[in-house]
Amino acid sequence: MLLHSSPVDSFRLAGREIYVKRDDLLHHEFSGNKARKLKYFLAHDFPAIDTLISYGGTQSNLMYSLSALAKLKHWQFIYYTNQPSQMALTQSSGNLAEALANGMELKTVPNTLTDFVNQLTITENQLFVPQGGADEFAAYGVRELAAEIRAWAQSVNLAELAIYLPSGTGVTALYLQHFLPEYVVYTTNCVGSAEYLVKQWNQLDASLKRPIILENSSYRFATPHTKLWQTIQFIQYESNILFDLVYDPVGWEILLIHLDSILTPILYLHCGGLLGNSSMSQRYNYTLANSN
Ligand SMILES: *Cc1c(COP(=O)(O)O)cnc(C)c1O
Repeated sequence: MLLHSSPVDSFRLAGREIYVKRDDLLHHEFSGNKARKLKYFLAHDFPAIDTLISYGGTQSNLMYSLSALAKLKHWQFIYYTNQPSQMALTQSSGNLAEALANGMELKTVPNTLTDFVNQLTITENQLFVPQGGADEFAAYGVRELAAEIRAWAQSVNLAELAIYLPSGTGVTALYLQHFLPEYVVYTTNCVGSAEYLVKQWNQLDASLKRPIILENSSYRFATPHTKLWQTIQFIQYESNILFDLVYDPVGWEILLIHLDSILTPILYLHCGGLLGNSSMSQRYNYTLANSN
C-alpha cells in the first residue's frame, strides 16, 4: 500500500516547467490528500476503539477514506448526514457507493448536522473525526508530505519554490507552510470565502505563519462552470494527468490568473479525489448540455 513518497512529474505550461506532486498516486483507498490527513490513524494502534464516527456530505472524499480506514481497522463506521439526494443513492460508483460497499452505516439526521453532532456523546470505544478532518491529527501526515517535498526540491537543486494547492478546510495548506518555512505556500479558497479560510486557520492555530491566498471570488464549491471545464480540459491535455473535478478546476483557473506573478518554480500539489469524478462529471455533462 503506497501511503508516502509519491512521485513528482512536470509539464510545460506558458513557457515554463510546472511540477506536480502526485499524491493522487498514493493508495487509491486513501484518495490523495486524505491519505495524508488520516496517516496518523493508520500509523498508530487504537486498542480501545471499535467504532469510527464522522459526519458531513455524501460526496465527501474524507467520508470514503474513513470507510477504507474503518474497514482496514475492523471498526464499525457510523456517518451522519442530512438527507442524501436520490441521485447520490442510486449511483453505483463514486464516494458514497464505495463507502457503503466498505460497510459504512449512513444515518440520516433531519435537523442541522452540526447541532446534532454537538450533542452527541462520544464513548471511550468511539473515535470521532470532525468534518473535513480539520484537526491536529492531520499535522502528522502533512509533516511527512513536507519532508518529501523538501527532499525532492533539494535533489533537483531548487532553492526557491512556490507550493500551490486548492483548499477546502485549509488544514493541509496551513500545516504545509508550517513544516516548510523555507518555501512559500499558495492556495485558493474553494469552499467558502477567503475570510472563511483565514477563520479556519485562526481556529486551528493562530500562531502559525499563513499561506498566501490567491483569492477565488467567482466560483462556488462543487458547482460546474463552463470556464472551469475548459480550463481543466486544457490542463489535462497539456500535462497528461487526470485531475479531480471539484477542487482542481478552481485551483488551476486561479493559478493561471496569477502564473506570471509567481516567479519561482511552482509545485502543484495533486490532492487526489478522483473517485468523486464520476458524480461530478454527470453534473458537468448536464451543465454543458444546458449552456451555449
Ligand atoms: C480534501 C481535499 C482538498 C483540500 O484539503 P484541505 O486540507 O481541506 O484544504 C483538496 N483537494 C482534494 C482532492 C481533497 O480531497
